Formats: sequence, structure tokens, C-alpha cells
Amino acid sequence: GALVFTAAACGGSDSSGSGSGGSGGSGDSAGKVGVILPDSKSSVRWETQDRPNLEAAFKAAGLESDIQNAEGSADTFGQLCDQMITEGVKVLIETDLDPDSGKACIDKAKNAGIAVIDYDRLTLGGGADYYVSFDNVKVGELQGQGLIDGLNAAGKTSGNIAFINGAATDNNATLFKQGYEQVIKDDGSFTVVADQTGDWDPVTAGKVFDQFYAAHPDLIGLVTANDGMAGGVIAREKAAGVEGKVLVTGQDATPEGLANVLQGYQTGTVFKDTSVEAKAAADLAIAIIKGDDPSTIATGSVNDSELGVDVPSVLATPVWITADSVQDVVTAGQASAADICKGI
Ligand code: BGC
Repeated sequence: GALVFTAAACGGSDSSGSGSGGSGGSGDSAGKVGVILPDSKSSVRWETQDRPNLEAAFKAAGLESDIQNAEGSADTFGQLCDQMITEGVKVLIETDLDPDSGKACIDKAKNAGIAVIDYDRLTLGGGADYYVSFDNVKVGELQGQGLIDGLNAAGKTSGNIAFINGAATDNNATLFKQGYEQVIKDDGSFTVVADQTGDWDPVTAGKVFDQFYAAHPDLIGLVTANDGMAGGVIAREKAAGVEGKVLVTGQDATPEGLANVLQGYQTGTVFKDTSVEAKAAADLAIAIIKGDDPSTIATGSVNDSELGVDVPSVLATPVWITADSVQDVVTAGQASAADICKGI
């Protein structure tokens, strides 16, 4: 039969996780790729999923890499960008913090003749050469449908719900919201009574929940746009004694999110296989460096509405994970059973 990972499988034992840091490099590489990640706190994904997956993908492609993290600072982002250009990277891969600092770096790199790949977030108006991400409207649709399904399974076919959105500076947050708003509207059973940004911050999201819940004690569910914010909300729900009663959603299939899913606090999470995303970025980088045709890899496109141009893109497919399918994330290698169990 299929393997099903349950909270009971965690037992009582404890184990420690693994850290990562620094940047990878190798002797005779085909060329060097620079990566700027946005921060470590809006999601654990950047350091625990993307960094190791990017390192592995570059290594497999025979590319030297310098992977850095701007840690939420636009100034640091700019400094890292300058450094990478000076270092002589052939391709620069960035996940922007905001459109302005993202575009400033794209402009500088392109002026220096360096190809730029927007990684995960499209810098609106930025003019990157390529974009690698997931179908982000679909991510939002999965969240909206996941909340509806979770409420229905709990016997709720109508009632008040709310949204805690991602940061307004992140184009993905707009796309996610487009997805869940539409699905909930089309379903027509639930009323959206409150809608605010949680800024991709667990503490902010928790405070937003407190406000929403004070104003709407009859709230039955929330779309929370990622696992980190869901965790912040669930902490406040526990304080109010309503965890598992006011359902929340998530995204990123983090150990914390998966633990909350197994315990019934979160209806589900969106599994975005970052090894697929990282490999697509590495494949594009190597094609650019070797002078192969990148259009055989970037077969899709996403419209930058500010520039009115279609950016050649690779978009991977997100998957909705519920308590019955947590094992799939473990099997894919995106989260370890030991790390999930720490949240239980
Ligand atoms: C990413 C999410 C992530 C969020 C916060 C978004 O752009 O797509 O996976 O949770 O940023 O870092």
C-alpha cells in the first residue's frame, strides 16, 4: 500500500537538523553564476531548499557559483549585485526584494553584458532576460480550493473567511491572490470579510489574525499565503483556543507547515519542488554560457505588464499537499521526517 506519514510516526525522539551556508565552487568550471536570494525570514525555503538545490544543480551542470543572501536589505542586495558583476559572473540569478532594487541590479548587470534570470519572483518592469518559477496563479487556486475543501470536510458549507496576503512588493503575492480570490468567488459559498497583507512575516500575520478575529469572532477560515505566516496565525489561534477550528492554508511544504497539516491546524500546503526550479535555472544558465539556444528550455512566457513584454519562462507545476500526502514531500526529498517531527 501507499506510504502515509502520520504524526504518530514521530514518536518521542528528538533529532537535530542540518545547516548550510557559504558558496560552492569548483576548479575548471564552464563559468560562474551568481545568485542573490532575498532573505531568510519570509520563508525558510530560501536557505533550506533553494540554496542546497541550486548548489547541487550548478555542481551537476559543471558551473561554479556564488550564492548570497540579501537578508531583507535592499542596500545589501545592491552591494551583492556590484560584487557579482566585479567577480565576473556570466549569469546573474536574482529573487528580488522589491521592484526598484531588483530592477537596479538587472540594469547594472545587463549594462555589463551579463544575462539575468529572475528566480521565483518576476521583477515587474525589470527587463530580466528569463524567468524561472511556478505557475503562481495556480498556487493561489490550490490554496483557495484547499481552504474550501477543508471547510467542507469539516461540515462547513457557508460562513465568513479572510485573506492574509503576501508582501505587496512581491509580484507573486498578487498572482497568488488572483488565484484564491477567483476560486472562492466562483465557488460562491463563503464570504470574504477581511483582507490584509501579512508582509510575509509570521509575527505580522499573527497580529493581523488577532485583529480579524476580534472583529469577526465567527471567522471559520483564512487563506494565509505561506507556511511561515500560517505558523504565526496558528500560534495566535492557540492563544485563543481556536487552533484547528479556524482553518488556515499555507505554501512551501516546510517542516513547520507539514507538521501543522498533520496536526489538523492547516488544511494543506503548496508543495513547490524547488529542486525542479533550481535545475531549470541551472539548465538555462549553462545554455546561456555555452551559447546553446535557451528557448528550448524557456518554452513558456510570462507577460511583464509594466514593460508590455513576454519574458521567456520556465514554469513548474505546484501540488497541493494534505495530511494524506505529506509523505510525498518526504519522498521527494524536500522535507525530512525528522524535521517535520520537531514541529509536533
Ligand atoms: C515565494 C514563496 C515564499 C514567499 C516568501 C514568494 O515569492 O514564491 O514561496 O513563501 O515569497 O518568501
